[in-house]
Amino acid sequence: MSSLKFLNLNFGIAESTHPVWDSVGQNMIEIRKATTKVRMLTGSYMVQADKHKFNQYTIDPTCLLCHREIEDILHVLTTCPVLDSERKEYFTPIKQLVTENSPPGTWKLLFNNKLAVTQLVLDCTKYIKQLGFKEELILKLDTLTRHFCFKLHYQRLSLLKKARRLTIVIKNWMVKHRQWKSEILDNIR
Ligand SMILES: [Zn+2]
Repeated sequence: MSSLKFLNLNFGIAESTHPVWDSVGQNMIEIRKATTKVRMLTGSYMVQADKHKFNQYTIDPTCLLCHREIEDILHVLTTCPVLDSERKEYFTPIKQLVTENSPPGTWKLLFNNKLAVTQLVLDCTKYIKQLGFKEELILKLDTLTRHFCFKLHYQRLSLLKKARRLTIVIKNWMVKHRQWKSEILDNIR
Protein backbone atom coordinates (compact mmCIF):
# COMPACT_ATOMS: atom_id res chain seq x y z
CA MET A 1 0.00 0.00 0.00
CA SER A 2 1.45 3.36 -0.97
CA SER A 3 2.08 5.60 2.01
CA LEU A 4 0.36 8.48 0.20
CA LYS A 5 -2.68 6.40 -0.68
CA PHE A 6 -5.11 8.61 1.24
CA LEU A 7 -3.63 12.00 0.29
CA ASN A 8 -5.60 13.73 -2.48
CA LEU A 9 -2.77 14.82 -4.74
CA ASN A 10 -5.20 16.56 -7.11
CA PHE A 11 -6.15 19.07 -4.45
CA GLY A 12 -4.30 22.34 -4.40
CA ILE A 13 -4.28 23.28 -8.07
CA ALA A 14 -6.41 26.37 -7.46
CA GLU A 15 -6.31 26.37 -3.66
CA SER A 16 -3.40 27.80 -1.71
CA THR A 17 -3.12 25.23 1.10
CA HIS A 18 -4.72 21.91 2.00
CA PRO A 19 -7.70 22.29 4.43
CA VAL A 20 -5.90 20.05 6.92
CA TRP A 21 -3.83 23.18 7.66
CA ASP A 22 -6.40 25.87 6.71
CA SER A 23 -8.76 24.92 9.55
CA VAL A 24 -6.06 24.96 12.25
CA GLY A 25 -5.21 28.65 12.79
CA GLN A 26 -2.49 29.57 15.29
CA ASN A 27 -3.64 27.40 18.18
CA MET A 28 -0.74 25.15 19.27
CA ILE A 29 -3.01 22.32 20.45
CA GLU A 30 -4.83 22.31 17.12
CA ILE A 31 -1.50 22.36 15.26
CA ARG A 32 -0.41 19.31 17.28
CA LYS A 33 -3.67 17.55 16.43
CA ALA A 34 -3.29 18.43 12.73
CA THR A 35 0.27 17.09 12.76
CA THR A 36 -0.99 13.72 14.03
CA LYS A 37 -3.58 13.64 11.26
CA VAL A 38 -1.00 14.58 8.60
CA ARG A 39 1.28 11.77 9.85
CA MET A 40 -1.62 9.34 9.44
CA LEU A 41 -2.45 10.77 6.03
CA THR A 42 1.08 10.57 4.68
CA GLY A 43 1.86 7.12 6.13
CA SER A 44 4.43 8.31 8.66
CA TYR A 45 2.27 7.37 11.66
CA MET A 46 3.83 4.11 12.88
CA VAL A 47 1.50 1.23 13.69
CA GLN A 48 2.40 -2.45 14.23
CA ALA A 49 2.06 -3.30 10.50
CA ASP A 50 4.66 -0.62 9.62
CA LYS A 51 7.04 -1.70 12.39
CA HIS A 52 6.68 -5.28 11.14
CA LYS A 53 7.75 -4.21 7.61
CA PHE A 54 11.06 -2.98 9.02
CA ASN A 55 11.59 -5.84 11.51
CA GLN A 56 9.80 -8.88 10.10
CA TYR A 57 11.44 -11.39 12.43
CA THR A 58 11.11 -9.55 15.72
CA ILE A 59 7.89 -7.51 15.46
CA ASP A 60 4.43 -9.04 15.24
CA PRO A 61 2.02 -6.92 13.13
CA THR A 62 -0.95 -7.88 15.34
CA CYS A 63 -2.66 -5.06 17.26
CA LEU A 64 -1.27 -4.86 20.80
CA LEU A 65 -4.60 -3.59 22.16
CA CYS A 66 -7.12 -6.16 20.89
CA HIS A 67 -4.81 -8.96 19.62
CA ARG A 68 -7.40 -9.76 16.92
CA GLU A 69 -6.13 -8.26 13.64
CA ILE A 70 -3.09 -6.78 11.97
CA GLU A 71 -2.82 -3.19 13.14
CA ASP A 72 -2.77 -0.86 10.14
CA ILE A 73 -4.22 2.65 9.99
CA LEU A 74 -7.63 1.27 8.90
CA HIS A 75 -7.70 -0.94 11.99
CA VAL A 76 -6.96 2.01 14.29
CA LEU A 77 -9.46 4.38 12.70
CA THR A 78 -12.35 2.03 11.88
CA THR A 79 -12.09 -1.38 13.56
CA CYS A 80 -10.12 -1.87 16.79
CA PRO A 81 -12.80 -2.78 19.38
CA VAL A 82 -10.70 -1.39 22.25
CA LEU A 83 -11.11 2.12 20.78
CA ASP A 84 -14.85 1.71 20.14
CA SER A 85 -16.25 4.18 22.66
CA GLU A 86 -13.93 7.08 21.62
CA ARG A 87 -14.52 6.23 17.96
CA LYS A 88 -18.28 6.32 18.38
CA GLU A 89 -18.24 9.58 20.34
CA TYR A 90 -16.03 11.44 17.86
CA PHE A 91 -17.41 9.88 14.68
CA THR A 92 -21.09 10.69 15.35
CA PRO A 93 -20.74 14.47 14.63
CA ILE A 94 -18.81 13.69 11.40
CA LYS A 95 -21.59 11.45 10.12
CA GLN A 96 -24.19 13.98 11.25
CA LEU A 97 -22.50 16.87 9.41
CA VAL A 98 -22.26 14.89 6.17
CA THR A 99 -25.80 13.49 6.42
CA GLU A 100 -27.38 16.88 7.17
CA ASN A 101 -25.57 18.66 4.34
CA SER A 102 -25.79 16.18 1.47
CA PRO A 103 -28.66 14.66 -0.57
CA PRO A 104 -30.54 11.76 1.11
CA GLY A 105 -28.76 8.43 0.73
CA THR A 106 -25.33 10.00 0.13
CA TRP A 107 -23.81 8.54 3.28
CA LYS A 108 -24.89 4.98 2.49
CA LEU A 109 -23.78 5.31 -1.11
CA LEU A 110 -20.31 6.76 -0.47
CA PHE A 111 -19.26 5.56 2.96
CA ASN A 112 -20.35 1.94 3.09
CA ASN A 113 -16.85 0.50 3.62
CA LYS A 114 -13.82 1.00 5.89
CA LEU A 115 -11.59 2.30 3.11
CA ALA A 116 -14.02 5.08 2.16
CA VAL A 117 -14.54 6.05 5.82
CA THR A 118 -10.76 6.17 6.34
CA GLN A 119 -10.45 8.34 3.22
CA LEU A 120 -13.14 10.72 4.48
CA VAL A 121 -11.49 10.99 7.89
CA LEU A 122 -7.94 11.49 6.58
CA ASP A 123 -8.59 13.64 3.51
CA CYS A 124 -12.18 14.68 2.84
CA THR A 125 -11.15 16.72 -0.24
CA LYS A 126 -11.49 13.56 -2.36
CA TYR A 127 -15.26 13.78 -1.82
CA ILE A 128 -15.74 17.54 -2.30
CA LYS A 129 -17.45 17.18 -5.67
CA GLN A 130 -19.70 14.29 -4.65
CA LEU A 131 -20.73 16.01 -1.42
CA GLY A 132 -21.04 19.45 -3.01
CA PHE A 133 -19.41 21.00 0.09
CA LYS A 134 -18.31 24.63 0.01
CA GLU A 135 -15.26 25.94 1.88
CA GLU A 136 -17.01 26.54 5.21
CA LEU A 137 -18.33 22.96 5.40
CA ILE A 138 -14.99 21.51 4.32
CA LEU A 139 -13.27 23.38 7.15
CA LYS A 140 -15.90 22.18 9.66
CA LEU A 141 -15.50 18.59 8.45
CA ASP A 142 -11.74 18.88 8.61
CA THR A 143 -11.90 20.17 12.19
CA LEU A 144 -14.12 17.25 13.26
CA THR A 145 -11.91 14.66 11.56
CA ARG A 146 -8.80 16.24 13.12
CA HIS A 147 -10.33 15.81 16.60
CA PHE A 148 -11.35 12.25 15.69
CA CYS A 149 -7.84 11.22 14.57
CA PHE A 150 -6.18 12.83 17.56
CA LYS A 151 -8.57 11.30 20.12
CA LEU A 152 -7.99 7.78 18.76
CA HIS A 153 -4.23 8.36 18.64
CA TYR A 154 -4.20 9.71 22.22
CA GLN A 155 -6.32 6.86 23.58
CA ARG A 156 -4.23 4.27 21.69
CA LEU A 157 -0.97 5.64 23.13
CA SER A 158 -2.36 5.87 26.69
CA LEU A 159 -3.57 2.26 26.58
CA LEU A 160 -0.28 1.04 25.10
CA LYS A 161 1.65 2.80 27.89
CA LYS A 162 -0.60 1.21 30.53
CA ALA A 163 -0.17 -2.22 28.91
CA ARG A 164 3.63 -1.80 28.88
CA ARG A 165 3.63 -0.79 32.57
CA LEU A 166 1.49 -3.79 33.44
CA THR A 167 3.85 -6.12 31.55
CA ILE A 168 6.81 -4.72 33.53
CA VAL A 169 4.93 -5.15 36.84
CA ILE A 170 4.07 -8.77 35.95
CA LYS A 171 7.66 -9.53 34.87
CA ASN A 172 9.05 -8.04 38.11
CA TRP A 173 6.52 -9.98 40.16
CA MET A 174 7.49 -13.22 38.41
CA VAL A 175 11.20 -12.60 39.07
CA LYS A 176 10.46 -11.90 42.78
CA HIS A 177 8.18 -14.94 42.96
CA ARG A 178 10.97 -17.16 41.58
CA GLN A 179 13.40 -15.72 44.16
CA TRP A 180 10.99 -16.36 47.07
CA LYS A 181 10.34 -19.86 45.83
CA SER A 182 14.04 -20.70 45.70
CA GLU A 183 14.62 -19.07 49.14
CA ILE A 184 11.80 -21.11 50.68
CA LEU A 185 13.12 -24.29 49.06
CA ASP A 186 16.63 -23.47 50.35
CA ASN A 187 15.26 -23.03 53.89
CA ILE A 188 13.39 -26.32 53.76
CA ARG A 189 16.41 -28.29 52.57
ZN1 LIG B 1 -6.95 -3.62 17.81
